[in-house]
Amino acid sequence: MAKKQFKTESKKLLDMMVNSIYTHKEIFLRELISNASDAIDKLYFRSLTDDSVLLKKEDYEIRISADKEARTLTVSDNGCGMTKDELENNLGTIAKSGSLDFKTENGGKENIDIIGQFGVGFYSAFMVADNITVESRVYGADGAYRWESSGADGYTVTECEKDTAGTVITLHIKPDADDEKYGEYLEEYKIRSLVKKYSDYIRYPIKMSVAHENKKEGSDEYETVYEDETLNSMIPIWKKAQSDVSDEEYAEFYRDKFYDYEAPLKVIRQKTEGTSNYEALMFIPSHAPYDYYSKDFEKGLQLYSSGVMIMEKCKDLLPDYFSFVRGLVDSADLSLNISREMLQHDRQLKVIAKAIEKKIASELGKMLENDRENYEKFFKAFGAQLKWGVYSGFGVNKELLQDMLLFISSNERKYVTLKEYVSRMKDGQDKIYYASGETQSKIATLPQVEAVVGKGYEVLYLTEDIDEFALQIMRTYDGKEFINVCREELDLSSDEEKKELEEKNVSSEELFKFMKESIGDEVAKVRFTNALSGHAVCLSSEGELSLGMEKVLKKMPGVDGSGIKAETVLEINKDHPIAAKLSELLESDKEKLASYSKILYAQARLVSGLALDDPAEISDLICGLMI
Ligand code: ADP
Repeated sequence: MAKKQFKTESKKLLDMMVNSIYTHKEIFLRELISNASDAIDKLYFRSLTDDSVLLKKEDYEIRISADKEARTLTVSDNGCGMTKDELENNLGTIAKSGSLDFKTENGGKENIDIIGQFGVGFYSAFMVADNITVESRVYGADGAYRWESSGADGYTVTECEKDTAGTVITLHIKPDADDEKYGEYLEEYKIRSLVKKYSDYIRYPIKMSVAHENKKEGSDEYETVYEDETLNSMIPIWKKAQSDVSDEEYAEFYRDKFYDYEAPLKVIRQKTEGTSNYEALMFIPSHAPYDYYSKDFEKGLQLYSSGVMIMEKCKDLLPDYFSFVRGLVDSADLSLNISREMLQHDRQLKVIAKAIEKKIASELGKMLENDRENYEKFFKAFGAQLKWGVYSGFGVNKELLQDMLLFISSNERKYVTLKEYVSRMKDGQDKIYYASGETQSKIATLPQVEAVVGKGYEVLYLTEDIDEFALQIMRTYDGKEFINVCREELDLSSDEEKKELEEKNVSSEELFKFMKESIGDEVAKVRFTNALSGHAVCLSSEGELSLGMEKVLKKMPGVDGSGIKAETVLEINKDHPIAAKLSELLESDKEKLASYSKILYAQARLVSGLALDDPAEISDLICGLMI
């Protein structure tokens, strides 16, 4: 029979497996056992709502057997099985699991590591086998099918005999080579140790028939008897005593279950008894998944009822601002066949969700206090989500979240909490200063920032889109108002200086009127300032909307930007020689004053990190002055 060809990507992966130089080939067994366990899960799920499935929970099992003479290793299960199409589709193409998405994203680099960290599912068996057959029969179906392949040259699918439902995978183990004794995988001790190491928490028994030497009755002779032995303890990792689980075991469990290639940053366990009985095992990832900040990302914890998974992603267990948490909740209080709709209204679930939220918050708080380095790593990955949390719902979660926020500040450009900021405020300072911009360096060189920092105040540097919106919703922290240093109302000068400035502004009204008319509707106001140490001009804004917020809103998809406009103020340093020059031009050369006004406004925009609407016009104006 003609062989069918694997799809291109699958062929590449297969080649990689067949010729693998990876040193931990042993993970293939973990992969096959996990698949078997998943297949049993599926049938078990079905049995909850489908009376035609007659198996009871204790009937499910995974079996391993080895035949040294035939050099075969067999892993079988009595799970859901695969149809002919499923055999082709699932084993003839690369699975769409997280591992492979990652692999292709990575351009296939670092393959070796990925094999170890994720495993690559079924195909990993080709690291140790030169031929694989998969015989499968779907529960309740009539026929059975056999898939067979010796590697990248293709596969066949034929009908076969199989009495019971489930899947039998038979590996023909490669001949021993100088550097790799593949025969070891047929040894009982090796199989035992691999199951313990990788698959101990699998919830179905992994059985193997093991030889025992028994004394014959009434004689001194021994005979060999075979008995089934369950190799795994089956106790889920979250049911084990905390002291019995090593960091490595947690990491292994996490990577395997949640398709991450890195160990988690933090493991959180919670066990409560009383009003609600549940155990939670949660992880804070050390980095954001590639789709985290996209609409494809789905939050949620796995939900188990007494050790049996009833939902893959229960989103009601996590508030949006903690959506980065992965993990599971196991509760004896939840009924096994509860539907999704019922769950949403389940009071018990709400109680659990509330307690979980509290626990996560307190663990993050502890981390911030005791392990700053890791907290900062966490915040780099997920801080934006916490800020969204502050912003959304009109700030209802501000109290819970505000002390978890970090901001870079002018003080050594390091992360600072709001509490730390307030604790080191200058004598007499009663406001929290911030400025926003694209990068820290751009913010640091804003004239207003230079001026405020120059006076000895600390300024928070906001570089993320959400930042300023979050602070505006918060309005205050510890009774101190947040103030954008690029806002018009900010004036740190003495009363005397203020008075002098006001007089000058009042007497220059005619000048400002002319300048504003020359520039056009883009500016709401022109005025003198004394808040600009050495610089000539800057932009500030009046009212709720800052220039930074205008920028963010305008680039948001689906937002009509035409009506969004910050009230822009062109500020001119009253002590800069240009100020005197402008007043002089008002008397002597209005045409020149008009050009100067446009140029100064353009300069102020550039300084604020804004683009020019008509750069060519400005260029021509400047040239006009040069010649
Ligand atoms: P993954 O498990 O990451 O999806 P695999 O390559 O290991 O990738 O498996 C591909 C698919 O083949 C599985 O998703 C599952 O649908 C199917 N499969 C594998 N092993 C079994 C099995 N023992 N019983 C039923 N289906 C299986």
